[in-house]
This record gives sequence, structure tokens and C-alpha cells, in this order.
Amino acid sequence: MENVKLNTGSYLIEQLNTSQKNDNVFECLSCGACSSSCSWFEGEGGPVPRQIIKMASLGLDDLLIESGMLWDCLLCNRCTQNCPMGITMGNVVRKGRSHPKAGKLISKDIQNGIKTRLTTGDVNGLTREEFIETIEWMSEEFADETGDPDATIPYDQKGAEFLYLPNPRELGINLLHLTAMAKLFWMSDQSWTMSSRHTDVTNWGYFVSDDEIARKMALMVIEPAEKLGIKTLVLSECGHGYHVLKVLAEKLIGRKPEFEVLSMPEFVLKFVKQGKIKLDKNAHPYPVAYHDPCNLGRKSGLYDAPRELLALCCKEVVELVPNRENAICCGGGGGMLQDSKSKPKRMITGKAKADQIIASGVQNLAAPCLSCHRQLGEISNHFKLGVKVYTVAEIASSSLILPGDKKMV
Ligand code: SF4
Ligand code: SF4
Repeated sequence: MENVKLNTGSYLIEQLNTSQKNDNVFECLSCGACSSSCSWFEGEGGPVPRQIIKMASLGLDDLLIESGMLWDCLLCNRCTQNCPMGITMGNVVRKGRSHPKAGKLISKDIQNGIKTRLTTGDVNGLTREEFIETIEWMSEEFADETGDPDATIPYDQKGAEFLYLPNPRELGINLLHLTAMAKLFWMSDQSWTMSSRHTDVTNWGYFVSDDEIARKMALMVIEPAEKLGIKTLVLSECGHGYHVLKVLAEKLIGRKPEFEVLSMPEFVLKFVKQGKIKLDKNAHPYPVAYHDPCNLGRKSGLYDAPRELLALCCKEVVELVPNRENAICCGGGGGMLQDSKSKPKRMITGKAKADQIIASGVQNLAAPCLSCHRQLGEISNHFKLGVKVYTVAEIASSSLILPGDKKMV
């Protein structure tokens, strides 16, 4: 410990509000309960939560940054559930990530994605023209499929009631997810639109813990939505996107957005309750297990709506054990999935989830987050689980009961 400067001048200690319980690293008992509940536990390398807290409380900023633990943490907060002192690991790690010297360890993919998103409105750099071309082509297909010329995927419609904000993957490799959402909007009989300017529910400013970037990205969605005059923003299945736009947005932008924010399952349930959307429980006559994404569940409190919706679409919804507040992370959170070099690490952090899936005995999983969806598919292949992974929108749209005046070819 020679040459190590303790406490004085520590950026991290200055940033942590140690008068607040969830930030108070000085209250750490070194009990290790956090370490034993981490997805990295028993894996090779990775963060040791107790060490993170200890280094933070000693003001060992440089040592903590060089350890790499800040960027290996999944920000899942599972360890926080077991902390007797209520220290919130996600807060501590995010404050560590905001350290001026920590930026050099941000993956190139995340750095590039942030630049692209800030300049184009889409993390993959989809241009407005490409968006329009894709949506118009999908609209034609959708109208053919339904035989209804009014069944379209609208964009930039002023005064529409709902704005649907997709995950960028829906405009690339997950086009079927967007078609599933279009079917659900079509059945709801509501006026809805997408925006050709901002096609991205994600917010990687959250991962790098830069509130200014996160604020800009949130405003890139919020201001055009307000200009369109929508009443409700419906978010695609994205854990951290929901957490930022539903839970953090008001604090980030300094005011309430002028619309309500709903997750996709909350939107569908609203119209199920009004009798507009009807679902067939027998459409999935096998057990389907629900995966709680950390950002939706533990960090935003959204547990019931997806379960309620799945129960209307599947004969049996199975709980993975543990679940809800104690759910196990998919192993790809905190920006790790967005780093293209992370797969070897993610197959270590995904082991706890794979074991949980094996113990449940299910062959079908539902995950309302496209990042979890991808990670769960990869761990299914890697650990040879033979499990099919669906988004909740896919399950809901394939359970639709069509009224007499609607059909699908
Ligand atoms: S990965 Fe999750 S459980 Fe492990 S230290 Fe980070 S927040 Fe805690
Ligand atoms: S569980 Fe809480 S008190 Fe125990 S070592 Fe971890 S951070 Fe410290």
C-alpha cells in the first residue's frame, strides 16, 4: 500500500453522497454477502463487489479503475439485495465510471455507438432515408398480410395518441419484433406513429455514467415526441431504455415529459382490459418461464405487467427461482453486451442464469428486453440448453384472437 493516497482528493468519495444510506461505503461491514450473490461468483476474474466498496471507501480511485472491475460489473444490483447496509452497488460503480480517468477503459464499441447515436439519432447510424425505406416496405408487407390497406406502420404523424419507440435491433436483425408490435397496435385500434428522426430507445450515456450524454439522448426522444403532440410514449422491450425514460428522465432533463411512458406489456394490457385486444391462452400450450431483466424489475419495479400479459397468452407461466427482486442477471448487463469482444466474459457471467434455467426444466423463455433476449439465446447455445427465447411482444402477437373484421394471411 506504499504510495497509495488514501481519502483526500478522492474523486469517488467526493461524488458519493455518503450521508445517504445507499451511497455510504463507509458503513460496509466487509461481510462478503455481496460477493457471494454476484453473477461472477465462482467464475474466473470479474468484479469482487466487496473489494469495489472497500477501494471506494479508502479513496483508492486509481487502483479501482486499473482493476477493470468497474467495467466488468453488470450494474445488476443483485448484490445490493443482500447487503445488510443497503449499499447500492450500481450507484457506486456508476460514480466510479464517471471518474475522469475511467473513460480510457470504455470499450470502443460503446464510444463509437455514443458518437453515432448523438449525430444520427440511432446507435447503428440508420439514416432517416433508410428508416423510411424500411418502414414503407414493412408497411406494404403488413397491409398484404392483413388484407387491410389501412394496416400500416405510420411515421411522423402529428397528433397521434401513441408514439412507439423501437429498439434499434428492430430496424435491423429483429424486424419481426416490429411487425409483432404493428399487429398489436393494429388490434388496439388506436392512432399511433413512429418517428423518422429518433428511432432508438437505448441510452448508452447511462452505461458510461455521463449524465450530460444521457440527458441529450433522452431529449432527442422527448422533444420530438412532444412536438408531435403524442399522449403516450410506448417503449420497446429494452431494460435500460425503460429505466432511463421512465425512472430517470425527469431528473435528467429537469422537468416532467409532457406525456405518459408505458412499457410494451403495460400498453397491451391496457387494451386487453378495454376488450380491444383479445388473446388466446392456448396459443402457447407449453410452460413458458419469465426472465426478470434487472433494469425493468429490480431497478424500475416492473414485475407484474409482463407476467399478467404472458398469463393471458400461455397455458402455464413458470417462475424461475429466484425471481423478481432477487432475479439472476442474464449476464450481459451494464453495457457488457454492447462490447463486441465481451462474449467470453458473458459466457462466464451467464453461467448462473444457465444453471437456473436448467433447474426450472423449461424449454421456452420470455424476456421483455432485446439485450437479455440476445444474451439468453447465446447462453442457450453455449451451454446447449436447447431453450427457445422469445420477446413478450412476439408471444403476445402470436396469441391474438382476430375479430370477424380482421384477418391475417
Ligand atoms: S455484477 Fe451485479 S452482483 Fe456483481 S458487483 Fe456488479 S451489481 Fe453487484
Ligand atoms: S454486502 Fe454490503 S456490507 Fe457486506 S461487504 Fe458487501 S457492500 Fe459491504
